[in-house]
Amino acid sequence: MNSILLDAINKADTIAISGHIRPDGDCVGSTTALYYYIKENFQDKKVCFILDKFPDSVARCIERPVSEELDEADLFVSMDSSSKDRLGDAVQLFEKSKVKFVIDHHKTNSNFGDINVVEPSASSCAEVLYELLEADKISRRVATSIYIGIIHDTGVFKYSATSSRTMNIAGELMDKGLDTAYLIDESFYSKSYKQNMLLARGLTKAVLLKDIPVIYTVISADDLCEFEASSMDTDGIVEQLRLTKGVETAVFIRQDGEALYKVSLRCKTGVVDVSEISIKHGGGGHKMAAGFSVEGSCDYVINTVISELRELFAEKKHNK
Ligand code: AMP
Ligand code: MN
Ligand code: MN
Repeated sequence: MNSILLDAINKADTIAISGHIRPDGDCVGSTTALYYYIKENFQDKKVCFILDKFPDSVARCIERPVSEELDEADLFVSMDSSSKDRLGDAVQLFEKSKVKFVIDHHKTNSNFGDINVVEPSASSCAEVLYELLEADKISRRVATSIYIGIIHDTGVFKYSATSSRTMNIAGELMDKGLDTAYLIDESFYSKSYKQNMLLARGLTKAVLLKDIPVIYTVISADDLCEFEASSMDTDGIVEQLRLTKGVETAVFIRQDGEALYKVSLRCKTGVVDVSEISIKHGGGGHKMAAGFSVEGSCDYVINTVISELRELFAEKKHNK
């Protein structure tokens, strides 16, 4: 069986693989899976791998590929990135590549490739990739990367985008000999001391609104500094807030610069579509999980996001 992706790989001598800036587990999992799949099954191809630093949690389980240098490529594969500008510096090579191939699962994807395989109902980009590969040619190393991508974007098989197909794929990957208990603990649940301290700080500062089922918290640059932490150490705080009883939407706000904030939105049941808010601010994501960056003071960011959520919840009530 040949997929549209394998056809494109067959035709190319030089291939570039990249994903979105500040990559998460799905982005690292998808891009490394494709890199190792090509290296193992198409030995004559030259492959350039471009991705920012891996989060520590993922780097413990996935080895960073040794990239080959390319000035231009026959094929550029963009993974888990909803738009061109999310590719960061890799966009230069993207522009110079002959065939631009986009693999993604963001409903906000702008279909910026020549070929676009975008499946908004898929749990993860890694799941979309799995469907494009030949299952019997997937090694244990490639299976590890795909599995990590899936567990990170599904919160270990619990978010609503987890389908029976996702579970079947996970089963097929397990059969490649993965130590899944180890991978789940090492790459998803294991936290450093400073990550736990930041989680505690985020929970202590959380504010539960009375008029709409929303909770929010802020981690300031001072909080990060106090624990000598980086922005990556705040992963998981919004997921914990989302579990609060009675809450539908959790908002996590992190100070990334003097007047620059990153906002993460997560929903419990999908009463509202939070990607509507992220799109307004030039961000992206999914109905239940979206994010964006915004300039302004902390109070401005809180007030803007909360009033936009109030509007969304009011519309919902009105349309009932
Ligand atoms: P996060 O809150 O950063 O974990 O992101 C939640 C979802 O929104 C993920 O699917 C991200 O890819 C997407 N997302 C976050 N920030 C942005 C952004 N600035 N632009 C586009 N998509 C984003
Ligand atoms: Mn991602
Ligand atoms: Mn993803």
